[in-house]
Amino acid sequence: MFEVLRNKLTGVLNRLGNKGRLTEKEIDEALREIRRALLEADVNYKVARTFINSIKQKVNDDEILSSIAAGQHIIKVTNDELIATLGGDNYSLNVGVKKPSVILVVGLNGSGKTTTCGKLANKFVRDGEVTSLIAADVHRPAAIEQLKIMGEQAGANVIDYGNNHSAVYVAENGIEMSKRSQSDWTIVDTAGRFQIDEELMTELEDIKTAVSPDEVLLVVDAMTGQEAVNVAQEFHSRIGITGLVLTKMDGDARGGAALSITSVTGIPVKFIGVGEKIDGLDIFYPDRIASRILGMGDVVSLVEKAQSTFDEEQILKLESKIKNSQFDLEDFLEQIRSLKKMGPMNQILEMIPGFAGKKNNLASGEIDDAQFAKSEAIICSMTPDERRRPQQIGGSRRRRIAKGSGTSAQDVNQLLNQFKQINNLMKEMASPKGNKRLMKMMEQRGTNPFQF
Ligand code: GDP
Ligand code: MG
Repeated sequence: MFEVLRNKLTGVLNRLGNKGRLTEKEIDEALREIRRALLEADVNYKVARTFINSIKQKVNDDEILSSIAAGQHIIKVTNDELIATLGGDNYSLNVGVKKPSVILVVGLNGSGKTTTCGKLANKFVRDGEVTSLIAADVHRPAAIEQLKIMGEQAGANVIDYGNNHSAVYVAENGIEMSKRSQSDWTIVDTAGRFQIDEELMTELEDIKTAVSPDEVLLVVDAMTGQEAVNVAQEFHSRIGITGLVLTKMDGDARGGAALSITSVTGIPVKFIGVGEKIDGLDIFYPDRIASRILGMGDVVSLVEKAQSTFDEEQILKLESKIKNSQFDLEDFLEQIRSLKKMGPMNQILEMIPGFAGKKNNLASGEIDDAQFAKSEAIICSMTPDERRRPQQIGGSRRRRIAKGSGTSAQDVNQLLNQFKQINNLMKEMASPKGNKRLMKMMEQRGTNPFQF
């Protein structure tokens, strides 16, 4: 997410951050580079201009030019400005006075409406809320089937009347039905078009009147850049939108849509789609996204993800194993599997402070999903005894393991070395001396988020 923009911005800011006093010329040049980076990321030119002017003003207001930490100051100002541009606060969904709260999901064809309906339902059900999905896209028979599949995965109730009725009929009756099933949330999936047309807008207006939604979410494809911003403006002027969902943020969207859409339309982004699967939906937090764009990671999201993936018992067990130097390949395998559950490796690395900038170096294959799959295969080809005491694995066994896992002896060696290194590191960290060193490292990092 935001890879190119992040690389450019961290490049400029890193240079500034390492300097003390700055001349006006240096600042101007840096701001010009930031502006160029924004435009290259397809940020709306007016938004980019406001962004730069606002930084300029704050920098001058603060009279920081002569300060010894001028660079650090600009980083902070840029971060604040980025958060403001992304919408400032995080907005939660509007909840109705009476149950169910109704969400109407609208957007163009292929933007990800049906997928988003399924993902939202999944979120609600996981929070223990009864959720109904209404299949009001009656124009494509496959759409109903798709919603049913996602609804089933999510554990939600899917209401459909086939495609012999009008969308308004389905929506109206669906709401009644979901009331009877005592739903907390009712999500209405609708049809899209390839372009905005009169027929679609009229249908959506009618559905809106029929279901009186508490929330109207417009789903837009982040890959379409500035076009997403235009679409949002048009939908908003006709239908009235209360929140945005930017999908396909896991793809190579340059980020322009995310950075411009709220500033231009005034509508907050509430969620982002980060994958095709049912759990690929994140709440949109402007401050966390800003932090990722500036290469400062996103520890809060990382911890939340870890908490929802690893259970407490597992963590305690692991802790005690590390303390007692009992961490073996069996545990290593368990860790790999848990990490895999957290999502694609590139998305996780992005959240680790300092890692984001280094990710490109890792693309050579040190930590990626394919490498994980390989490690998993290698460990699975070992006997339980070998997993517990890997130091006993000699040359001929290494060859056998390589053959069994479809890898090379070199791969096996690499894994065993890696494991040894990790084990040493863990032992060191578990010692009082190591603990102190770690604390010191973190303190130092705190003073300059760009010093990796
Ligand atoms: P609809 O026509 O608006 O209902 O769009 P769909 O929900 O059918 O989605 C269109 C395509 O986009 C499908 O192949 C989805 O799997 C894919 N998709 C939706 N959201 C995301 C996302 O956040 N990331 C990725 N990678 N794919 C997505
Ligand atoms: Mg659909």
